[in-house]
Amino acid sequence: MTGQANPFESLQEQVDDAAAFLDASPGVLDRLKNPERVLETNLTIERDDGSLETVRAYRSQFNGDRGPYKGGIRYHPGVTRDEVKALSGWMAYKCAVVDIPYGGGKGGIAIDPADYSEDELERLTRAFATELRPLIGEDRDIPAPDVNTGQREMNWIKDTYETLENTTAPGVITGKALDSGGSEGRVEATGRSVALSAREAFDWLDRDIAGATVAVQGYGNAGSIAAALLADLGADVVAVSDSSGGIHAPDGLDPRAVKAHKVETGSVSGYSDTESLTNEELLTLDVDLLVPAALENAIDGDLAADVSADVIVEAANGPLTPDADDVLAEKDVYVVPDILANAGGVTVSYFEWVQNRQRFYWTESRVNEELERMIVDAFDRLVDSYETNDAPNLRTAAYVVAIDRIINAYDQAGNWP
Ligand code: GLU
Repeated sequence: MTGQANPFESLQEQVDDAAAFLDASPGVLDRLKNPERVLETNLTIERDDGSLETVRAYRSQFNGDRGPYKGGIRYHPGVTRDEVKALSGWMAYKCAVVDIPYGGGKGGIAIDPADYSEDELERLTRAFATELRPLIGEDRDIPAPDVNTGQREMNWIKDTYETLENTTAPGVITGKALDSGGSEGRVEATGRSVALSAREAFDWLDRDIAGATVAVQGYGNAGSIAAALLADLGADVVAVSDSSGGIHAPDGLDPRAVKAHKVETGSVSGYSDTESLTNEELLTLDVDLLVPAALENAIDGDLAADVSADVIVEAANGPLTPDADDVLAEKDVYVVPDILANAGGVTVSYFEWVQNRQRFYWTESRVNEELERMIVDAFDRLVDSYETNDAPNLRTAAYVVAIDRIINAYDQAGNWP
């Protein structure tokens, strides 16, 4: 992370930027810049050696005008109240951009999960689920995976909730394992929407994604799958990185083989026939497409001045600061914003929730077809907003679409009580 921007202030600035294109009162916009409520809780868990430890955890429910709050839970030492608030707002706008019937929420525990055993993580997750129980539910607030959480944690939360509620309610959480009520295609969904967004953006710019050079910063679930699917579209993935550093191969890498190397060794570094480079060098590499897929604030205004890519597709949430956006717009770098590009994750979460509630499960090809349709439609709507509003960048155009939808729902309900 190079930037020190507060993500919550970034979110508020993004809403303000879009407000100029909307006929909305300041009072209504103020509502859209702040969460409805935030749970802050201290979880005390027993370590394996018998000692007790207290850790901080949060859940922010940003906006529920369009449906139940929805969004992931992350385990990361950088989790703060403001970060969770920002991430919950991005979820509300993301769900509105792809037009799925949810509001936005986000949660997190401020720990490095690498410091804990599996048993400790289970106790911690179940303690958090117990705190969350009154707030969540299939029609209230539906958590999901985020940074450093996955099927395992989702299965624990589902089991804790169902046991305490003495019911079965698999739709209380998404991103579960298949045998616990998960959906086909959910694990790949975030990376898939990144690849689809890149394909659509290149098409719109009259360029071909096949043969385009790509650098991917971050090689977790989103980055590694986006890289593999971009390679399937014929792109040349020439550099990838993770928190330990990056690798560069001008003739292209095999993203799936790099992933296997990371699973085996713990990092992408040291993969055969590559040169090492820093995250900063990767972000300024002269490529056609740059995919930031790590954390917030990866590119600030200073670093943006050195970015050489033509197109950026955001797989992470909030990887560019508002200053970076301004610099990149000035340089005619097109940025496909996170709230569309990585929306595949929550879109397939929505499909999972629909399947859970119907007790009827779809094939993987049905999931992928419905996802593609929704991402392509959302991209077309975004371009339409960009062109008709003469918006300064695609992010503002996306916020205009999203805020308009949320305000309509709010107006139709009326302000009560
Ligand atoms: N954590 C993911 C995101 O930031 C997925 C959220 C979900 O599926 O609800 O979009």
